[in-house]
Amino acid sequence: MNGDSMLADRYQAVRARIDAAARAAGRDPATVRLLAVSKTFDAAAVAALAALGQRAFGENYLQEALDKIERLAQMAPVAGPSTGSTAGAAAGALGRLEWHFIGPIQSNKTRRIAEAFDWVHSVESLRIARRLSDQRPPERAPLAVCVQVNVSGEASKSGCAPQDAVALAAEVAALPRLALRGLMAIPEPTDDPALQAARFATLRELLDAVRRATASGRGPAPDTLSMGMSADLEAAIAAGATIVRVGTALFGSRG
Ligand SMILES: *Cc1c(COP(=O)(O)O)cnc(C)c1O
Repeated sequence: MNGDSMLADRYQAVRARIDAAARAAGRDPATVRLLAVSKTFDAAAVAALAALGQRAFGENYLQEALDKIERLAQMAPVAGPSTGSTAGAAAGALGRLEWHFIGPIQSNKTRRIAEAFDWVHSVESLRIARRLSDQRPPERAPLAVCVQVNVSGEASKSGCAPQDAVALAAEVAALPRLALRGLMAIPEPTDDPALQAARFATLRELLDAVRRATASGRGPAPDTLSMGMSADLEAAIAAGATIVRVGTALFGSRG
């Protein structure tokens, strides 16, 4: 089996898992978006998945991401009449990719993140949020952001403390060049289904509190729960995930 047909099989399998999990939870599968986490995989892998219809890609490491974004932009055609060819259609898909930054953010990297990405899932301090807002180019739409919450309370993991999440989200929502879309979490891996469900439920309850706290603000109510990865997307969808971030199950092991 060649690499592209293996990728197509994995893509179908992940989509089927999302569909089944949504239906099992009584949810419309269209309410769950797949974010393909392409970190450590090259531009050709992104292009192959884009040709299958995937549009949103997540990256953790800034320099790797910027190289990939530029390479893919070069592979996309300049605007003009469509040739109608298969290659033209595949190249056309590359012009419409949506890039999500999901990794830890150092303050000296905020400018290039604000310039190159459509979404940032990993906002964990007001200081970083202010820089992203100040540095978002005026010609681009406001940067869509999620506040990352450390729902497992591990010292090693990023994210704000759960008790600080609502206040931080309210301050982020007030920044002019950001659009607060919701919350993100990476719960610690666990074999205990009750603990796993409790972590995801914590994030959902925090989003409800954020919605109450920002109800009078400008813009649409935050509705995004970015949670669930290759190993736990079913539990996340059962708890209300609206974006699942999937790497390994799509692209294979990062080795
Ligand atoms: C790498 C990564 C993922 C994808 O994890 P998989 O287990 O490979 O699906 C999702 N979210 C974040 C923040 C990541 O860093």
